[in-house]
Amino acid sequence: MSGALPRLGVRETAPYVSPQLDVPVRLNTNECPYPLPESFSRELAAAVRDLPLHRYPDGAMRGLRGEIATLHAHPLDGTWAATGSNEILIELLLAYGGPGRSAMTFEPTYLLHSRLAWITHTEVVRGSLGTGFTLGDEQVDAAAAAQPDIVFVCSPNNPTGNAQSVEAVRRLAGALPATLVVVDEAYIEFGGETALPLVAGHPNVAVVRTFSKAFALAGARIGYLLADPAVVRDVEVVRLPYHMSSLTQAAGTTALRHRDDALRLLAAIRDQRDRIVAELGNVSGMTVYPSDANFVLFVPPGDAAVVWQGLLDRGVLVRDLTAVVPNALRVTAGTEGETDAFLQAMKEVLG
Ligand code: PMP
Repeated sequence: MSGALPRLGVRETAPYVSPQLDVPVRLNTNECPYPLPESFSRELAAAVRDLPLHRYPDGAMRGLRGEIATLHAHPLDGTWAATGSNEILIELLLAYGGPGRSAMTFEPTYLLHSRLAWITHTEVVRGSLGTGFTLGDEQVDAAAAAQPDIVFVCSPNNPTGNAQSVEAVRRLAGALPATLVVVDEAYIEFGGETALPLVAGHPNVAVVRTFSKAFALAGARIGYLLADPAVVRDVEVVRLPYHMSSLTQAAGTTALRHRDDALRLLAAIRDQRDRIVAELGNVSGMTVYPSDANFVLFVPPGDAAVVWQGLLDRGVLVRDLTAVVPNALRVTAGTEGETDAFLQAMKEVLG
């Protein structure tokens, strides 16, 4: 076959996709199971109608950034937004990674951290989380020995569900003052303690958040960064011009006005998560990991691939994570009805 050849590795690598199947109960991508209320949609429609779409968007994203900064009582010039937290992560890698530089992960963790490092030609140094998937002195020592340019911490961690201690993140940031410590807090509204208070005393700590989970807005693609103003300045250099459309910015500011509606749903989601942990915990031969997030990682008795297919045959889609944690599956906490369907299907599949 002729034609242009891409860089080494591209043809050998599969696209990153979360397989979506059209089934009644989709519990595989950690979204919020409840849509935002009708009042949100009405307000968003009105905001969109008034947008001057023949003009480029506000490249400085002043409205959205201002409201996020106010929400977190964080300086505006240390606040940044992008189309999903994935875009924040790649912008940080573009600024702090690249050829001849390295990013460290503690596995098992969010697959995109190492994947985005590879995309940006950043060498990946893979460390391991400790017992119970925790970050502790051993991980701090490993990072101090490796001296990466970036280190990723995910808290609560996807796919294991546990949050890391802020004290451990503080030790990591203190031991590596010239390394950017990226704390991915995509699930922080569901549990765990935020590393945000560290930013003031540690200019190398960057906290990354998203509207995709607790804010019930995965479709709008909005993520944000809370960091030292110097980090935001660096990101501004590498970002694409006008990377956030007026439509997305309007969705973000409207969503912030409805934040309380979304956060009211958190308790219900946490209840379903705890119910999944409790009910799976009663199944003999099952390993269930405690969770501070909106999902639960578990290792079923028997072959996880068979369990995954059995659930799918009953209309329930969960995430197969056997490539990340041996024989493990991950289920998102859904509505009460979706959780009923998952637990019933598990009973049938396990006999
Ligand atoms: N970080 C973590 C840990 C995630 O699990 C996800 C979504 N699966 C993201 C970041 C990306 O979220 P988004 O780009 O939708 O903000």
